[in-house]
Amino acid sequence: MVSLQSTGRFLIGLDIGGTKLAAVVADRDGTILQKARRPTEAARGPRLIVESLCEMVREVAGLASVRLTEVAGIGVSCGGPLDTATGIVYSPPNLPGWDGIPLKAWLEESLNIAAFVENDANAEALAEWLFGAGRGYRNVVYMTMSTGIGGGLILDGRLYRGTCDAAGEVGHITLVPNGPRCGCGKRGCLEALCSGPAIARRARELITETVPGSRFQVPGQQADRPDVQTGRPDLMVDLADGDVNAITAETVMNAARRGDATALRVVDETARYMAQGLGTLINVLNPEIIIIGTIIVKAGDLLLSPIREYLKQETWDRLYRTVQIVPAGLGDAVGDLAAIAVVRQALEGYVKR
Ligand SMILES: [Zn+2]
Repeated sequence: MVSLQSTGRFLIGLDIGGTKLAAVVADRDGTILQKARRPTEAARGPRLIVESLCEMVREVAGLASVRLTEVAGIGVSCGGPLDTATGIVYSPPNLPGWDGIPLKAWLEESLNIAAFVENDANAEALAEWLFGAGRGYRNVVYMTMSTGIGGGLILDGRLYRGTCDAAGEVGHITLVPNGPRCGCGKRGCLEALCSGPAIARRARELITETVPGSRFQVPGQQADRPDVQTGRPDLMVDLADGDVNAITAETVMNAARRGDATALRVVDETARYMAQGLGTLINVLNPEIIIIGTIIVKAGDLLLSPIREYLKQETWDRLYRTVQIVPAGLGDAVGDLAAIAVVRQALEGYVKR
């Protein structure tokens, strides 16, 4: 065990993804000074990957003219499950062969700098809280919304990890009993209904149920909208170059912006489910702000407006009036800042004690 150097002026962040590794050196305010990337080549196994990470730490420190003795600590953002106290990583789905890997110990032995390992969604939540849309708030719910739906909770000004580092799994709130199968093995989770692949799957289902070129009715208030009336059921297929299987969540959003009725129906259903999931979180946690990444950042008010509308049905008025639902603020920089945020939080915890 290596101690955190509270006087160190610089922080190092490591991001371990299934396809790429990243190392960054930053100052304490989160200004990135240098970064390096390499392919993960996950098949070569944990030992060689950690060796690469250590080389990358030396490389970015060298590029920034930072001596390793000036580094306060290393933050690591990695897919879970993992144990933050021991720094042991337990078989993340994107890292084959990583079962019970003492990542913290290996990094500390090699670099003689204190290392802190956090699951990637929690690390991103910390980054949005310390450097992004959540700055200055004490109660923050962060949600990723892309291939999967992950999340992190900042409660009373601290990252809330739960009993076994598994808190904040907001994507696995069950919304539809016996609904679509989720990646976690259960059915009808928020992730199985509102992730990018789920949105695309719903669009494909609706399109293939519909005879191309035929008109169909959109339920609810949308039927009155003139733009919906002009929508073409196969616009999404056109946008996907004629291949129904190439439709993505982005295709759905683009078609919805052009008034396509099927796409608007998918957007409406997605917003309805999101509001149901967010309503549960709001009623349990009473957050000040909910920050949502990727799909919400790209879709903006197209999804946020109906989510806010439906939320009125899901929450008490007092809770609804005190919570903001906003897109993530860091964009692509969140990956670099996530690991830096992990060590910043460790450092601040250390200083406070
Ligand atoms: Zn699930």
